Amino acid sequence: METLTFRRDLSQQPKSETERAEILANPGFGNYFTDHTAVVDYSVDAQGEGSWHDARIEPYGPIALDPSAAVLHYGQEIFEGLKAYRHADGSVWTFRPEANAARLNTSARRLALPELPASVFLDALRELVSVDAAWVPTGDGEALYLRPFMIATEPFLGVRPAREVSFRVIASPAGNYFGGELHPVSIWLSEHYARAGRGGTGEAKCGGNYAASLAAQLEAEAQGCQQVLFLDQFNDNAVDELGGMNVFFVFKDGRIVTPELNGNILHGVTRSSVLEIAKERGLHAEERKITLQEWKDSVADGSLAEVFACGTAAVITPIGELKTSTGSIVTPAAEGEPHWKAIRAELLGIQTGTVEDTRCWLTRLV
Ligand SMILES: *Cc1c(COP(=O)(O)O)cnc(C)c1O
Repeated sequence: METLTFRRDLSQQPKSETERAEILANPGFGNYFTDHTAVVDYSVDAQGEGSWHDARIEPYGPIALDPSAAVLHYGQEIFEGLKAYRHADGSVWTFRPEANAARLNTSARRLALPELPASVFLDALRELVSVDAAWVPTGDGEALYLRPFMIATEPFLGVRPAREVSFRVIASPAGNYFGGELHPVSIWLSEHYARAGRGGTGEAKCGGNYAASLAAQLEAEAQGCQQVLFLDQFNDNAVDELGGMNVFFVFKDGRIVTPELNGNILHGVTRSSVLEIAKERGLHAEERKITLQEWKDSVADGSLAEVFACGTAAVITPIGELKTSTGSIVTPAAEGEPHWKAIRAELLGIQTGTVEDTRCWLTRLV
């Protein structure tokens, strides 16, 4: 197993305690960043051998890139997203990071970027969170969002996989995503745009997929919706996912259904955790194709109980309505405590250390 020692450059004055306290009092999402960043560089030598090197912690700040850097022209970029949670005893933990390390490498293979040893991925998280531990929030529903990413830095305009690459991790304090109360969201059905297609990059976590989703997101906002749903129009209008969250359906007879990993959709860590928790709670989990027509029919015949979206940033968000150009599919009002609430509470409890971690999903960082 490859190990690299992270050199620490702590020369720059960190933000003052007062400034940090002000930020932590109302962090929002993705607005502020901690004092440092983790970096590991990759290059291919004259013999064609690639290696990761120069692992370091350095002050957070702008990246100097050559204007011809490949990432700026051909979009060779991938990323990850996970959180660090502060437990009651002050220790800091993260959730299933080995799944993120594995997914980063799945994305890397698809974007012709070099794979990063999982041990280096984990060390980068641990090093960064150790140095910036004061930035891990303590409030209910708050966490330090970790954003690992990999970019092609080689200055070269020819089209081929870059031979110089940089892996980095930045960290951003994240508040309680919905300020406590969870309101069902309205989502817009994208009928003209797709975020992924067969053989495309749908199951890679890459910036390009997000760029491709933005025109649809604008359409959604113009319709008063918060998110977009993408379908596979060439596969009976099968439900794929939202721009950045996986989708679940719960039926009154106890089935919980989510689209199967068909190459178009992202292998969400939250998705797989929800499936496991749901099974243990006695729900019958199915990973399969679910079409827009089935969604409509199951509302019409009264068999559908809940629809929700899930992902690391917002955990679980109930979907109240799917708006389309020809009408709306409204999720029926809940009868009693919905399953999504209980699943969400269990997941958050495990992450924040108030529910026993029987599946060894947590890894201690500090
Ligand atoms: C990151 C992401 C998700 C959610 O994945 P998690 O691992 O649960 O955070 C879902 N869909 C897309 C397109 C994503 O990029």
